Amino acid sequence: MDRRDFLKFAALTAAGIFLPNEKASAYILDTWEPPIRKLFLQFTEYEQRPSTEVIVIHHAGFPDGDKDSSAEEIHKFHQETNGWAGIGYHFVIRKDGRIEQGRKLDAVGAHAYHHNKNSVGICVAGNFNFVKVPDVQMDSLKLLTAWLCQKFKLKPTKRGVIVGHRDLNDTTCPGDNLYSRLGEIRRYCRDFE
Ligand SMILES: [Zn+2]
Repeated sequence: MDRRDFLKFAALTAAGIFLPNEKASAYILDTWEPPIRKLFLQFTEYEQRPSTEVIVIHHAGFPDGDKDSSAEEIHKFHQETNGWAGIGYHFVIRKDGRIEQGRKLDAVGAHAYHHNKNSVGICVAGNFNFVKVPDVQMDSLKLLTAWLCQKFKLKPTKRGVIVGHRDLNDTTCPGDNLYSRLGEIRRYCRDFE
């Protein structure tokens, strides 16, 4: 096992993905998926995304504070209040590290104005203008982002590939305490390349 596979192996083991033996492990290292909770949310519209070049990281920065919003809650809010097809993000990462599926991964999202046609949106639950990102939540974010880079053949250290919402639109999202850690996420993903 080379250094890269070893790092992958260590990260997947830490995430609770079982790697039984070296032969099976080699297969798993190529085909692994992070544990994603599928919610089967109902959307009023669906449009397939033409390309995937950018991963946009968000927080659920409710001004009233730091909340562990679920994909279901955000889905309801985006449908009923915003009048959208459904949740705008493709994933929500809860404070305990659970990854929830939002919009279908191949659909055009609604999370970064003018940048939805070529991007995947991940929402990390909480307001990181005020609080730090819990370790388990950060671990899931890194794992999910690494998987997306592998899946869509993206180069994580290339400028503009893993970005914060504030890099694209006029917003403080995803909060200073998460935005300041994007370099750490890019380096982690680089080890999965
Ligand atoms: Zn955002």
